[in-house]
Amino acid sequence: MSNENTLFCANHPQTPTSLRCNRCEKPICTRCAVLTPTGYRCKECVRGQQKIFDTANWYDYPLAVIVAAVLSFIGSQIVPRMGFFALLLAPLAGVIIAETVRALIRRRRSRQLFTFTAAAAAIGSLPSLVSLLVIALAALSQGGLGVLLSLIWNLLYTVMVTTTVYTRLSGIQIGR
Ligand SMILES: [Zn+2]
Ligand SMILES: [Zn+2]
Repeated sequence: MSNENTLFCANHPQTPTSLRCNRCEKPICTRCAVLTPTGYRCKECVRGQQKIFDTANWYDYPLAVIVAAVLSFIGSQIVPRMGFFALLLAPLAGVIIAETVRALIRRRRSRQLFTFTAAAAAIGSLPSLVSLLVIALAALSQGGLGVLLSLIWNLLYTVMVTTTVYTRLSGIQIGR
């Protein structure tokens, strides 16, 4: 067919293209096209779309972060002590934190806000994890390693006593 049908990118007039933004119908080249779940779109339309989805207010950030961190901290004081049930209770705690934050921000949304909230939940769980790690390291340096060493001495004793008794009785003399 003819060159009349050839489109040129709206942002790059030298670049021929066959793509159009499926929202504003502007011709776009492969450099300008963004693949979205609904097809190719220009960057301007994608940005506009994100603004619609990003409805969080500035105060939603400190609110979500503080609430998630505090709830996660409280959960970290309870859930790990439940032993096996922690496998069930930890996801439940996550759901409770997420739903509490969602209710507080009144279903306003922002991907960044969700990332911050998850990070806050992780940070909230850190104090109990770190304190436990300190206790574990202390136990290892005080008693834990000693137990391991006495285990080695016991093992060595068993091996030496057994071989010595055996060689003595059987009359095999080593080193003569
Ligand atoms: Zn567009
Ligand atoms: Zn372009």
